[in-house]
Amino acid sequence: MPSKRMRWLLPSLLIVPLYGWGFDYAMPSISPESESGYEEKPGWSADSFAVAAANPLATDAGYQILKAGGNAVDAVIAVQMVLGLVEPQSSGLGGGAFLLYYDGDDVRAYDGRETAPAAVDGGLFMQDGEPLAFMDAVASGRSVGVPGTLRLMEKVHAAHGSLPWEDLFVPAMTLAEEGFAVSERLHLSLANDDALRNNERARDFYYDAEGEPIAVGETLKNPALAAILKRIAEEGSAAFYQGDVAQDIVDQVVQHPARPGAMTLDDLESYDAIIRDPICTPWQQWDVCGFPPPSSGHITIMQILGMLDQQPLLEAPLDDGVTSSGWLHQFLEASRLAFADRNYYIADPDFVEAPGGDWSTMLAPDYLAKRSALIGQESMGDNAEHGRPGDIETSWAAQPTQPEYGTSHISIVDAEGRSVAMTTTIEQAFGSRIMSDGGTDLPGGFLLNNELTDFAFEPEQNGEPVANRVEPGKRPRSSMSPTLIFDHDSGELVGSLGSPGGAAIIHYTARTLMALRDWGMNAQTALNLPHAVTLGDDVWVEKGRFPDATIDALRERGHDISERELTSGLQAIMRLEDGTLFGGADPRREGVVMGD
Ligand code: GLU
Repeated sequence: MPSKRMRWLLPSLLIVPLYGWGFDYAMPSISPESESGYEEKPGWSADSFAVAAANPLATDAGYQILKAGGNAVDAVIAVQMVLGLVEPQSSGLGGGAFLLYYDGDDVRAYDGRETAPAAVDGGLFMQDGEPLAFMDAVASGRSVGVPGTLRLMEKVHAAHGSLPWEDLFVPAMTLAEEGFAVSERLHLSLANDDALRNNERARDFYYDAEGEPIAVGETLKNPALAAILKRIAEEGSAAFYQGDVAQDIVDQVVQHPARPGAMTLDDLESYDAIIRDPICTPWQQWDVCGFPPPSSGHITIMQILGMLDQQPLLEAPLDDGVTSSGWLHQFLEASRLAFADRNYYIADPDFVEAPGGDWSTMLAPDYLAKRSALIGQESMGDNAEHGRPGDIETSWAAQPTQPEYGTSHISIVDAEGRSVAMTTTIEQAFGSRIMSDGGTDLPGGFLLNNELTDFAFEPEQNGEPVANRVEPGKRPRSSMSPTLIFDHDSGELVGSLGSPGGAAIIHYTARTLMALRDWGMNAQTALNLPHAVTLGDDVWVEKGRFPDATIDALRERGHDISERELTSGLQAIMRLEDGTLFGGADPRREGVVMGD
């Protein structure tokens, strides 16, 4: 057996045959995108199967797996492994994910959310009685949750995969060994990130001596990640959660120079992905299935949409192809009310009881009718209060708003009509800015998440506990909203979608569902629509995309508005009436759809 380093010297053409695995991966020659920012996309048709992901190399890996006879679960594993390499700012082995899977009969929700180590407590992000500055908490060992993505992948593959596990790693290993062309988005993410340069491994790997990031189109190999993936391919997730890789993760977390964390080998070894029941919510002709808590995504989306369905429209929802001020007002007011409930009630269900004992109380039509009736002609501003779903009294304190970013979404429909919607994250771009080489001593590796900053920093407010406070072994509340749509009458799959974007995932997904169901838009045009977001206070509208008249009309109703980039990363695949598929990828990112 040659040493790890020796194997790196073997001619690259021998690499795939050396693995001796069945899947014959053809390395695509996909050139990096020439532009960043908003780029029109055509939408893509396919007869029977399709995959949508945030990077063309990742989409292609899933496409090749599907073409080779793999199913949606096989494909999503190959896609995730490539994303961790080519889009390391958003997801990877060091993070967590929520995966919804429809196997042709049932929908299951696989929860690979990061967990808080056993040794932490509610004071994790407090110092001298004050919450840490957000970025100090992020770029630290304290923010790192026990990663869940790989255990999730292994669990869903054991239950539903069809191709051998090791085959699914061939695309990522090949690209990691032979190199891939750095995309515009990776380059810009590196250029814009100062905190990452403080991590020695990341600095040595992604930047030159002057601190300039690797250029667009330059070939980047990741020997450490290739070696780690090879071991995982051969030995399963134990190669990550125990041994050298686990030890290096622990070392990086507990030896963080400024703010060490408290993760142990035991935290890693005992991590388990949880299979949960999805929440499927009737919504006129559709049933919309989404992720239950610890994600707040589905409940908050369906509260917004449920309230809107009970509102008499103030004016036509679209004005010249853009959402009208009247519709936006109602959407934003419904968002304020839904976020008030979210911030009050939703947290890890293994630690926090649902109001009235069941999360469905928050979606009950009569409850939403009462909430909807609170929407008036004028904005309620930041005065939205939580309601009392299930008519119960609880004594939580609402969690104040915190920023969230990063993340990636994958949607797949396979030739048998099975479907995956998976949103996958390391939280912020480049997570905690801690890079692990898995103990290989080779260049590269993967980034560790900062998911624990999705917990409330302050464990209580005015003496009342916050539901989403830090507790040992708890999973932080998320906004991730992988979504599968079914026809209410026939039960047939209608579509798969989702997005990154922190708490704004909720608005991106809700508005896309409206456009798909009610406004005659397809899976591309629905994603192109401009965004508007409120987390309960001021309103952000997507920069340069709304007419002044719309913004003025919203201001007149009392909304405090500012323009900003709202970089969603929506992907959607919809089944058309003739049974074929049509997919879209967000014009704001590098994603594409491929299928046959
Ligand atoms: N950490 C966020 C969540 O779980 C996702 C971050 C993002 O989408 O940017 O909700």
